Amino acid sequence: MILLQQTEQNSNPQSALLMFALTISFMLLLVLSGKINLGIYLPGVGVPLRRSRKSILKQHFPYYTQLTEAQKRTFEQRVQRFIYQKEFIPRQIPQVTEEMQVLIAACATQLTFGFPPNTLSYFKRILVYPTDYYSTISKRYHKGEVNPKLKIIVLSWRHFVEGYLHNDDGRNLGLHEMAHALRLERRIIQLQHGHKETALQKEWESLAQREIQLIRLGKSQMFREYAGTNAEEFFSVAVENFFERPQLFNEQMPDLYRNLALLLRQDPLTP
Ligand SMILES: [Zn+2]
Repeated sequence: MILLQQTEQNSNPQSALLMFALTISFMLLLVLSGKINLGIYLPGVGVPLRRSRKSILKQHFPYYTQLTEAQKRTFEQRVQRFIYQKEFIPRQIPQVTEEMQVLIAACATQLTFGFPPNTLSYFKRILVYPTDYYSTISKRYHKGEVNPKLKIIVLSWRHFVEGYLHNDDGRNLGLHEMAHALRLERRIIQLQHGHKETALQKEWESLAQREIQLIRLGKSQMFREYAGTNAEEFFSVAVENFFERPQLFNEQMPDLYRNLALLLRQDPLTP
């Protein structure tokens, strides 16, 4: 009886094909509607961020929780895309956990939220150490670095977390390193396409040089001494302060603050 039914069904290839097509369509519908999340990012397709990742953002990422509902959806898409596109490499730890991946992706998204979604795509790998690590090249301990040649961003997880735990002291390792990466990527793209510095960038460099001199003379308003190292470090320290102490930054150095808000295409004081 059963065998006979099977034989009858199999004898109709058209209905089998129809069933197959219906099943595939149904599965695809579930994936696209977010009922099933494969955790993959398909360009142009709005795959919702899986619930576990969303709850990490809700619990640990104030920048995200302050966004409007529409902005949250965009932010989640950016986080999804970053995780999908980057290779996370554990160093001296067993794995780069989902929490680490989500928060590192969120940090990059925070910095680049005003830019197109493919920003920072030049960098392919994120190396995560448990704490500061010894560099055989510089013969020093590092908390993080960006290497454009190897297309990597390196982070000490302990210092990354500390940056967000104390979120009003103007120190944030994640934002600091992502800012290096953003500045390098901008320059690489400009060089590749033969583009010149924009007026805004030129203005930034001259304002930055003036402030660097003040830091070196010990007359710094609010940036730590390290910002006086060079223009690269100055930019990264400015970004840390921009997100962590925008009010103070704007009061102390309004020209620099305004210029940075235009460069980053967002303003924490008027979100
Ligand atoms: Zn730096």
